Amino acid sequence: MIFTKNSRKQFLKQKETARALVHERLQYFNSLYQFTFHRVSIRNQRSRWGSCSQAGNLNFNYRIIFLPGDLVDYIIVHELCHLKEMNHSARFWHLVAQTIPDYAARRRYLKKIRIR
Ligand SMILES: [Zn+2]
Repeated sequence: MIFTKNSRKQFLKQKETARALVHERLQYFNSLYQFTFHRVSIRNQRSRWGSCSQAGNLNFNYRIIFLPGDLVDYIIVHELCHLKEMNHSARFWHLVAQTIPDYAARRRYLKKIRIR
């Protein structure tokens, strides 16, 4: 599945929409997890949907706004849980499963979506 064109113009147009969505979902899920994070950045990337730095900064691809809500939530929760577990260990997936019990199906679905 191919998605959107990698245009800077589109990125600048959609960035604030993406930021609002990301903040809303982060706030919702972090009211459950209560983790601490610092900066939240919205980026124009081809290779990934999100990332979490050692310093506790969260980054998300602006194209998240084009995804169905259940995949958005999976990406948000995945990066949030990296604040606690910087790996993909059983403990990490257990944290994810606390709010997204069907995370494995969402992860498989997300992997099929390619960014152009
Ligand atoms: Zn991860």
